[in-house]
Amino acid sequence: MPSKVEALSKKDLQELKNMLLERKQAILRKMQQYYQESQEMETNIAQDAVDKAESSYTKEFLLSLTDAEREQLSQIQAALRRLEKGEYGICQSCGQPINKKRLKIIPWTSLCINCQEKKEKEEAEERELEREKEIL
Ligand SMILES: [Zn+2]
Repeated sequence: MPSKVEALSKKDLQELKNMLLERKQAILRKMQQYYQESQEMETNIAQDAVDKAESSYTKEFLLSLTDAEREQLSQIQAALRRLEKGEYGICQSCGQPINKKRLKIIPWTSLCINCQEKKEKEEAEERELEREKEIL
């Protein structure tokens, strides 16, 4: 079955690689900032026990942001590895090429739009099931 998806040129790959590296740097900078802020908060918590509850709430919020970004960072690193191996732009689920436009919006994606939608649908269904369990 020949694919009609336009192949990625060297120029495209270079462009996508730059996007990945830029995003990676931005996340690393942010993570460093969060880390410093949470360290500072730690100090404040020790100094002021009254504000403890509020501070740990803020701290958790910052750390949860970091988690989401850490997740993206690992996706970026995996994408860079695929670039090196020449496997970039191939859906990790169905093996079909990922649309170029999609890659230029989310260069770290490892799934084509069909597989992504399928995955999101499954996750939404799982969340729905979890909620039902909670109600019961
Ligand atoms: Zn796919």
